Amino acid sequence: MKKFKKKLVAGNWKMNKTLADAQVLAAEILRDLADFTEVEVVLCPPFTALKAVGEIISNSVIKLGAQNMHWEAGGAFTGEVSPGMLRDLYCHYVILGHSERRAHCGETDETVNRKVKAALAANLTPIVCVGETLAQREEERTRDVVHGQVTQSLAGLGDDLARIVVAYEPVWAIGTGRTATPEQAQEVHAFVRELLGAAGGAETAAAVRILYGGSVKPANAAELFAQPDIDGGLIGGASLEARSFVEIVRGAA
Ligand code: PEP
Repeated sequence: MKKFKKKLVAGNWKMNKTLADAQVLAAEILRDLADFTEVEVVLCPPFTALKAVGEIISNSVIKLGAQNMHWEAGGAFTGEVSPGMLRDLYCHYVILGHSERRAHCGETDETVNRKVKAALAANLTPIVCVGETLAQREEERTRDVVHGQVTQSLAGLGDDLARIVVAYEPVWAIGTGRTATPEQAQEVHAFVRELLGAAGGAETAAAVRILYGGSVKPANAAELFAQPDIDGGLIGGASLEARSFVEIVRGAA
């Protein structure tokens, strides 16, 4: 029997929004969702807006997340941000291993694994991204790729495996307007849950939320979120406008 879990919808604002624009967007989202508790909502603005957005949503049902962090606690790592610095700004979540960072910033399963462990140690919930490219899907390597990413990025977590969130984001669907069909997404989500079960047992697998990401829009959100193994979404483009993000959140209820 499926255990009840609150769905989670996170907005990944990527490298968008000035401070002023971020404040406006956060305030608009809060205005529309202040009393909405059916879905857990997370906003992930760029580092430069974390403090200001955090102040706007403090003491509300909406939580704050970052888009990346380093695994070290501090030191000579120019341009990086530590887990403690994110906690200091009241972040609850951190996106790790996003495909854009894997493609453009040299992130590997090994560095993602270090970050996941550092996030958990700092009491941050990692949203760990996995997903295949179009070429890998066409070569029918989706399962192999996702298997490698899940097992290596999440290696050695022990009981902490139950504390993470996974986001399945097929790279070919990110920012392209091309969404996985609910069946395609469900198939991979069920596989990810199977892998989590093999690593941590059935109870852990059932507890972990597996989000879908990749061109989620108000028009396709409800159908995706209705799939048995889709526990919410990681939203890029459609999270940059309050109206579409709020509609997606409501679609998850
Ligand atoms: C993302 O980058 O996490 C994402 C899902 O982007 P989009 O919704 O724009 O495809």
